[in-house]
Amino acid sequence: MAKAKVIDTHAHLGECCVFGLLSTEEDMMRRMDENGVDATIVQPYPGAKEAAKTHDAIAELCAKHPGRFFGLASLSPHGDHDAYRREAERCIKDLNFVGIKLHTIGHGVNPLSDDGDFVFATAHDLGVPAMVHTGAGVPFALPALCIPAAKKYPGLNIILAHAGMAVFTAEAQVAASVCGNLYLETSWCIGEDIRWMISTIGPDRVMMGADLPSNVPVEVAKYRSLDLAPEVYDRVMGGTALEIFKLKW
Ligand SMILES: [Zn+2]
Repeated sequence: MAKAKVIDTHAHLGECCVFGLLSTEEDMMRRMDENGVDATIVQPYPGAKEAAKTHDAIAELCAKHPGRFFGLASLSPHGDHDAYRREAERCIKDLNFVGIKLHTIGHGVNPLSDDGDFVFATAHDLGVPAMVHTGAGVPFALPALCIPAAKKYPGLNIILAHAGMAVFTAEAQVAASVCGNLYLETSWCIGEDIRWMISTIGPDRVMMGADLPSNVPVEVAKYRSLDLAPEVYDRVMGGTALEIFKLKW
C-alpha cells in the first residue's frame, strides 16, 4: 500500500500587513522537506496588500511544484459583492483552488453578519469548503459563531481554523459535536486537546495545520508525540484533508 500523504492544511504565502509576517516559497519548501510534509494548502495572509495578486502567486507556486501545493482563496467580503464573487470564482474555477477563507479577525468579519454569510454562500455555491479563523480575535473568532452557517448550509463543510486556538478549543469541540459539517484544523492547539478532539469528534473531522513555516516542525511533533494508532495518525495527518478538500494528484 502506498504511504499515506501528509498534508499541512493551513499555510500562507507572501506578506501580511495585519500581523507583520512574511512567508516565502523557500521557507515553506524547506520546512515541508525537513518534516515529511507531502502537500500544503496555501492561502494569502489577510493582510496581503492585494489578494488577487497573491492568488496569482499561489497559482504560480502550485504550477511550479505540481502536487505539493494547493490554493485557498482569501479576500475581504466587505467591498463590492459582485467583485468578491468574481475573484472567488476565478480562484476556484480557473486556478483550481480548493477552498475559501473567512478571516474573522484579519478582515474584521463577523460570521453572523451579512458579509459573513456571503462568504459561506459563495463557498457553498462553488462547492468548496469554507475555512474560518477561530481563536484569537473574539467575539468574531468564537467557534460557536459558525454553528448557524453550518445549520443553514448543511451541504457546506466548514473548517474551524486553529480549532479555537487552545483557549476556545472546548467551544470548537462543542460546536463540532452539534454540527457534523464542522471540521477542526488544530494549529496552535494543546497536544492533549488534539487527542481529545480526535477521540470525541473522530479522526475523520480533525486535520493537521501549521499556519507558519516555523510552526511546521512543532505541529508535526505534537501529532507524533500522541502515539496515535497508525490508521488514526494517517487520517488526521492527511487522509481527512485529502477527502474534504478533494485533492487530486
Ligand atoms: Zn493562518
